[in-house]
Amino acid sequence: MELQAQPIRGRFAPTPSGWIHLGNARTALLSWLHVRSLGGTYVLRMEDIDMTRARSPLAQGIMEDLRWIGLEWDEGPDVGGPYGPYTQSERLERFQAALDKLQGQDLLYPCFCSRADIFAAASAPHGLSGEGPAYSGTCRSLSPQEAMARSQYKLPSLRFKVPQSPETVISFQDQVAGHVAFGAAEGGDFIIKRADGMFSYQLAVVVDDADMHITDVLRGYDLLDSTPRQLLLYQALGWEPPRFAHVPLVLGPDGRRLAKRHGAVALRAMRRQGITPEAVIGWLAYFSGLLDAPEPVKAVDLIQGFHLDKLPKEPVILTEQFLRKLSALQR
Ligand code: GLU
Repeated sequence: MELQAQPIRGRFAPTPSGWIHLGNARTALLSWLHVRSLGGTYVLRMEDIDMTRARSPLAQGIMEDLRWIGLEWDEGPDVGGPYGPYTQSERLERFQAALDKLQGQDLLYPCFCSRADIFAAASAPHGLSGEGPAYSGTCRSLSPQEAMARSQYKLPSLRFKVPQSPETVISFQDQVAGHVAFGAAEGGDFIIKRADGMFSYQLAVVVDDADMHITDVLRGYDLLDSTPRQLLLYQALGWEPPRFAHVPLVLGPDGRRLAKRHGAVALRAMRRQGITPEAVIGWLAYFSGLLDAPEPVKAVDLIQGFHLDKLPKEPVILTEQFLRKLSALQR
């Protein structure tokens, strides 16, 4: 079915590697408001595929924190739904099936390079999403015999063959960032399955969004440069991609992504200290251009006036003063 004709379905897909803080709570709020304002279905998915980082008590805590600020979901790990399971670590056969489909089209190749090799051969600067430098394609030209011989000694990762022609451009209309275009080869051949057997974020997110019939992906701007890779996968797998909206990030006063080093920004800590969920939503809405002043408000009361056009196009930089105020409230 054409994307236009499909019922609206959006999602929030946290990686349970840390507590929800003002930055990711804002992404959650905006994706929720977007879906709710369009009368759609909201899905929560735990992206715990990277088991080295993900911890399940955190998944539980993330759900508690989201509910505390008044966000609820129609489908998710704890409430189920027609397209589950909603926890990535329980969906490995789906990822394998997609990988087999890509392999059947000769779109993957084994790569024996170490991280050090890749950094040494870097042909492009680090991407926004921190996936490291673009892979220079060293192993793409290995013959099947060479690859076989090497795999006796070392397990390879599997990479996707990105179109190499410098003219191939992947462009899309982002609902917040506007027209976006990347040279297809810019990011290099990316990993589909790591040497340790883990499927990559790029593969898992595409399979899950497609399986869960997601029509609208709203997420942080740091994932903008992942989108061309995901679009290549949608194309190769014969699936229709969703609409994308990449929202500018919330940054600390040092201009870096909001994190623990910026102090008292975890929702969990705020809740323990008696800060109200309405106060938190008020701040988030104010940072997002949805309120003129950081007044307490309930998430549900923001649905009616919500529109993506209201969102700022630049990152939000929190002040030292605000962070100090937060710390003081928590004392
Ligand atoms: N799991 C990713 C994260 O927490 C988000 C992935 C996505 O929204 O596509 O950063």
